[in-house]
Amino acid sequence: MAFPKGEPCTTKLKREARQYWERTNHFDWLVMGFTAEESRRSDNFRMTERTNLLTPLIDLKISKQRCFEIIQKAGIRLPISYHNGLPNANCIGCPKAGSPNYWAAVKKNYPDIFQQRLELAERLGVKLLHVRGERLSLTMLDSIQYRRLEMGIPQDEQLSFDCGLFCEENF
Ligand code: SF4
Repeated sequence: MAFPKGEPCTTKLKREARQYWERTNHFDWLVMGFTAEESRRSDNFRMTERTNLLTPLIDLKISKQRCFEIIQKAGIRLPISYHNGLPNANCIGCPKAGSPNYWAAVKKNYPDIFQQRLELAERLGVKLLHVRGERLSLTMLDSIQYRRLEMGIPQDEQLSFDCGLFCEENF
């Protein structure tokens, strides 16, 4: 959880899975769905992993929001995570996330997952919350949210974290 150079789950669940696919399939080009706002991520990916990368959404300037509109217009429901206040449909309870609002949404909609993360983080001594440059324990979530409300910080002042579809890219 919360390693300085990225989460080990990223390596295991995303990078190694993709690299396995690359080793066992022939391909000339790798097409990935980085959205228009992710050009820095795709540049990093191109520099550190693959030069034969195609990014049609960036080329067509299609943002994440525009993707949502296209999908919904086609009658496809967005993943439930979005309806539950999460910023993406990645793993729920991602240790990369530090936003109190993110964790409040996890606690409200997925209390079992929240409890698992809290217990593991406490056992390992990891502070998952990021608040104004400080790292705090998940056990402090309720009091932080209460204080933020008192200070008039809006609930929907979302979510500094965006792991995105490609949390695996190297920086
Ligand atoms: S979304 Fe979060 S929990 Fe899931 S693989 Fe990426 S860093 Fe790990």
